[in-house]
Amino acid sequence: MIKTTAVVVGAGHAGLAMSRRLTERSIEHVVLERGEVANSWRTQRWPSLRLLTPNWQTRLPGHDYAGDDPDGFMPAADVVATLARYARLVGAPVRTATTVHTLRADPQGFEMQANDDLLRAQAVVLATGACARPAIPGIAGAMPPSITTLTPLAYRDPGQLPDGGVLVVGASATGVQLAAEIHRSGRPVTLAVGEHVRLPRTYRGRDIFWWLEATGLLAERYDQIDDLTRARHLPSPQLTGTPEAITTDLNSLTALGIRIVGRLGRITDGVAQFSGALANTCTLADLKMNRFLNRADEWATASGLDDELPPPHRFAPTRVDPRTPLELDLTAGEFTTVLWAAGFRPDHSWLDIPVRDRNGHIRHDGGIVTGAPGLYVLGLPVLRTRASTYIHGAGADSGALADHLHAFLSGRRLR
Ligand SMILES: Cc1cc2nc3c(=O)[nH]c(=O)nc-3n(C[C@H](O)[C@H](O)[C@H](O)COP(=O)(O)OP(=O)(O)OC[C@H]3O[C@@H](n4cnc5c(N)ncnc54)[C@H](O)[C@@H]3O)c2cc1C
Repeated sequence: MIKTTAVVVGAGHAGLAMSRRLTERSIEHVVLERGEVANSWRTQRWPSLRLLTPNWQTRLPGHDYAGDDPDGFMPAADVVATLARYARLVGAPVRTATTVHTLRADPQGFEMQANDDLLRAQAVVLATGACARPAIPGIAGAMPPSITTLTPLAYRDPGQLPDGGVLVVGASATGVQLAAEIHRSGRPVTLAVGEHVRLPRTYRGRDIFWWLEATGLLAERYDQIDDLTRARHLPSPQLTGTPEAITTDLNSLTALGIRIVGRLGRITDGVAQFSGALANTCTLADLKMNRFLNRADEWATASGLDDELPPPHRFAPTRVDPRTPLELDLTAGEFTTVLWAAGFRPDHSWLDIPVRDRNGHIRHDGGIVTGAPGLYVLGLPVLRTRASTYIHGAGADSGALADHLHAFLSGRRLR
């Protein structure tokens, strides 16, 4: 039996940021990690992946980007190196190769089974990631057996796929990037497009994340967002990080020769059926992009930056071919592969505490888990602000939760 004050589960950027916050507050703790530091970036990301957030934004408590390419986009291998360096910098007490299998409440706080050890702690921070499992729609069960299916967590490069056509399902950050990469390998690609968030890579000479931060959008707090559930489940923006900082929207993909179709709704007798609402879906995404660009322009004017920045402009509406097919026969030989890029989910299924709703989502108020004093969750989308979805958001989130955890421990000691 090992006893400690606090346990952080997961040594990704969120767990490491929390470790630094606990150390700052002299709270004894241990970080339990089933693999190595930055395990997700080592084992679940494809090698060509680059962050879609610019390097200058990859900041964590006590760490700012100090490289020579602040406006570039870090490859996954550099994210691993950055997090490994950060773990050393903050002296995070990480126990690697240690999987937490269960977490239960006990009279002193929490009890965990980690490998063969039993651990007790007064407080626990879950930092096991928002993208632990791929979201695979129920219709996957109707996939014809001739089709190879895979998810982004297993995808490494196009060479892994059989020759032939590929249907990529989902047109968010992952889907658009993988569609482009697979297309470059010479395989014909069809991209099924549901609700999506369109944003240009750069606008008026600045990266879109500069605008998202400058306008205050990323700082919007969870308790001030009208439809929080929706905000927490929004798809990731159609953005990729490339050395050329290119925009990867649907127009650029169709210009490459990628066919776009509507949302994949059903598979019946081997025939994939797509929504007929593609044009409407794209119009809505264009509208929302323009709404944000209006906000950006208003902010620039109010901030007196209009003379410094290139003038406002708008992007071409998304082009949708009126002959877009509504059905494609997956058994006719055109397709050999379906790649599910329909999003990711956290995995808190191993918790032996009734803190999840009927959809499996952990119930929390800005990371303070409901009904389990001393339990916290970090690293989920829009946890405390819209920035929580991204690496740099863990800075403020971990600070706020560490403050709460500290007060909680003080309260316990007083009793
Ligand atoms: C494809 C992709 C691209 C992304 N691109 C960006 C980007 O460009 N910019 C950005 O800011 N964000 C990006 N994100 C979002 C986010 O930053 C990452 O998901 C990030 O890895 C989340 O960090 P984390 O520390 O919360 O979780 P993770 O990095 O997933 O870390 C969780 C850790 O917990 C460990 N773990 C899980 N369960 C257990 C257990 N039971 N016991 C012990 N250890 C456990 C895992 O091994 C892992 O190391 C991207 C996400 C994905 C999936």
